[in-house]
Amino acid sequence: MRNIVMLGVQGSGKGTQAEMLAKEFFLPTVSTGRLFRSKIEEGTELGHEIARYVEQGDLVPKDIVCQVVTNWMDAPAARDGFILDGFPRNVDQAEALTEMLSKNGRMLTDVVYIRLSDEEAVRRLSGRRVCTNRDCETKFHVDLHPSKHDPDKCDRCGSELVHRSDDKPEAISRRLAIYNRETTPLIEYYRERGLLREVDGEQSITEVFKSIMENFRD
Ligand code: AMP
Repeated sequence: MRNIVMLGVQGSGKGTQAEMLAKEFFLPTVSTGRLFRSKIEEGTELGHEIARYVEQGDLVPKDIVCQVVTNWMDAPAARDGFILDGFPRNVDQAEALTEMLSKNGRMLTDVVYIRLSDEEAVRRLSGRRVCTNRDCETKFHVDLHPSKHDPDKCDRCGSELVHRSDDKPEAISRRLAIYNRETTPLIEYYRERGLLREVDGEQSITEVFKSIMENFRD
């Protein structure tokens, strides 16, 4: 059984690679950012609370994150393995994850770390356009890979594309600062535990996937 965590700065392509890996290993995958955006759209009290953090690019409080992730991980679909994208984001959350898993006699098996420079992350995020359909959320880039038929509509499902408010310059620098302060310590944390599978994220999507698969074969 594989219980995988995807690690990497925003824009490193971990969501895309998580979906590709999910197909390869027949595993369900979840993005906490996506779960939160759905909660915000539901317009509940919890959704309003989450929105206050997400719109600024700040981290959602741990209690809320752990509750949302536990609900997803304990669902029947995720009992035989999963891929987490966007969680954990700091050592505190990593320890909470170990605890959540051990309650059911499970443990993390692999951490895929996609390495990308801050400069490249900024370039990718500032031009990013995301499909507004929550079941799709395909990502495009105005210059690097624009939507082919209509630059404002998703090639995959036809829904509208948006420039997410947290992909605007101020929120990007805030998110990168949080990533560098809170999330990068996880690289050593998981390396020390022998779980890290590191790949170069500056390559094309197919090349990154190839590197990940080669790493899994090692
Ligand atoms: P993402 O789509 O992964 O960039 O996540 C979008 C936003 O959701 C982040 O900027 C945070 O506000 C929130 N978020 C996602 N995952 C987490 C997490 N594990 N802990 C706290 N906040 C999170």
